Amino acid sequence: MRRNVALEEAQDLLLSLADPVGECQLALFDAVGRVLSRDIEAPFNLPPFDKSPLDGYAVRAQDIAQASADNPVVLEVVEEVAAGHTARRKVTTKTAIKVMTGTAIPAGADAVIKFEDVRRAGNICKFFHPVKAGGNIVPAGEDVRKGEVIAARGTTVSPALVGLIAALGYAEVPVFDKVKIAVISTGDELVDSSQKLQPGKIYNSNLPSLVAACLKLGTQITALGNVPDELDAIANIISLGLADADIVITTGGVSVGDYDVVPDALARLGADVIYRGVNMKPGSPAVAAEANGKFVICLSGNPAAALITFELIAVPLIKKKMGLNSYLPARLGAKLGDDFAKASPQRRFLRGRFQVAEGVNRVMLTGEQGNGVLKSLVNCNAYVDVPAGSGRMVAGQDVSVLIVGDVFGR
Ligand code: AMP
Ligand code: MG
Repeated sequence: MRRNVALEEAQDLLLSLADPVGECQLALFDAVGRVLSRDIEAPFNLPPFDKSPLDGYAVRAQDIAQASADNPVVLEVVEEVAAGHTARRKVTTKTAIKVMTGTAIPAGADAVIKFEDVRRAGNICKFFHPVKAGGNIVPAGEDVRKGEVIAARGTTVSPALVGLIAALGYAEVPVFDKVKIAVISTGDELVDSSQKLQPGKIYNSNLPSLVAACLKLGTQITALGNVPDELDAIANIISLGLADADIVITTGGVSVGDYDVVPDALARLGADVIYRGVNMKPGSPAVAAEANGKFVICLSGNPAAALITFELIAVPLIKKKMGLNSYLPARLGAKLGDDFAKASPQRRFLRGRFQVAEGVNRVMLTGEQGNGVLKSLVNCNAYVDVPAGSGRMVAGQDVSVLIVGDVFGR
C-alpha cells in the first residue's frame, strides 16, 4: 500500500490494474453513446455504385465534346430512371438516359449534365456545353472504401456513426457492456429527502450527485444507500456492492477521526489497499482498494471533495473500464480571471469556469472553494491546478487547468 500519492500516481495505479469490461452486440438503435468493442470494417464500397448527384441526363462525354451555346448537340433520350431503379438500356452513341439524384449511372455513360442545362422536346434533348469524362458522377467508394476501418475499438458511437454503420448494412454493433457501479454513502448524520430533518442531521447530497455523475458517464448504477459509521454495516454493504458491481464507490469515513472506519472495513474484507491518501486539496483522505479484480474507490465525505476526487480519480478508471481510448481530462493553459488570496501549501484544485474569449483561454473562479462547498461546482467546467507551495494568485497570471465539463455549452 502506498501513502499520500500524487494524483497522477493514483490515476496510474488504478489504470494499470483496470481492463475493459466484457462486450455484447446491441441493436443499432440502442448503440448511441456506447463504446465500440471492435473495429468496424466496411464490407463494401459506399456508395456501392457510381451514382448521379443530381437530376439530369447521363451521357457519353465524347458525344457532346463539341457542344456550345451556338452549336448544341442533339441526343435522343432513350429511357428515364428514378432513384432506386436501374436502367434497362445502355447509353450508346448519340443517346442519353434521364437520371434522378441517387440513380446508379447507366452502363455506357461517363458523365451527367444537369437537368437545367438541357432543352428537351419529346425525346430529343439539346446539350449546350461539354463535360469532362467523370463529370457529375459520384464514384463508388467516394465515402467509404471496402475493407476500410470506419471506426476503431474504443470510439464512442455518435449519431453520425450510427448512420454510417446503418449505411453499411449492419443491424447490430459490438459494444462494451455497461460498467456496473455501486454507490454507497456513509455517515450517521445523513438522511435522505424522504425524511424530516432532525437537529444535527443533514440531507445526503453525495449519493445523488455521484449517482448522477455515474449516469452521465453511461454506467449502470446501483445506489446502495447510506449506512451509519459502523464497521460491520460498512463492510457488509461494500461486500454486497462487490458481489455485482465492477466498481464500488463510497463517500465519507476515510479520514482519521474516531468514526472513520471505511479503511477498517476494507481490511475486514481482505481487500488490497492500493493507496491511502492523495496529495491534493480537496479530497486528500481518498483511499482505493482492489478485491478480486474489482475496485473500491473511497472518497472523502465533503461534498465538493467527493465530486472532485470522483472526477479526477474515479472517472479515468471508469472510462478505461468502459473501453474508451482516452481517459484523462484535457490539460490546457489559461489566464486566471480572478485573484485567489490564499496560499496553497498543498497542491490544490480550484473550481473554475473555463472559456475562450477573443482567442484567449481564460478561467474564472466560480466562488467559495471550501471542501464542503457544492455551489461553486455547479457552473464549474475546469479545475485550476495550483502547485504545492504557491503563494497568493492574481488575475491575469498563467495557470494550468484540467477540463472536466462542457466548455462550449453543448
Ligand atoms: P467525512 O468524510 O465522513 O469525515 O465527512 C466530511 C464532511 O462531509 C462532514 O461534514 C459530513 O457531514 C459531510 N458529508 C459526508 N457524507 C456526506 C454526504 N453523503 N452528503 C453530504 N455531506 C456529507
Ligand atoms: Mg463521516
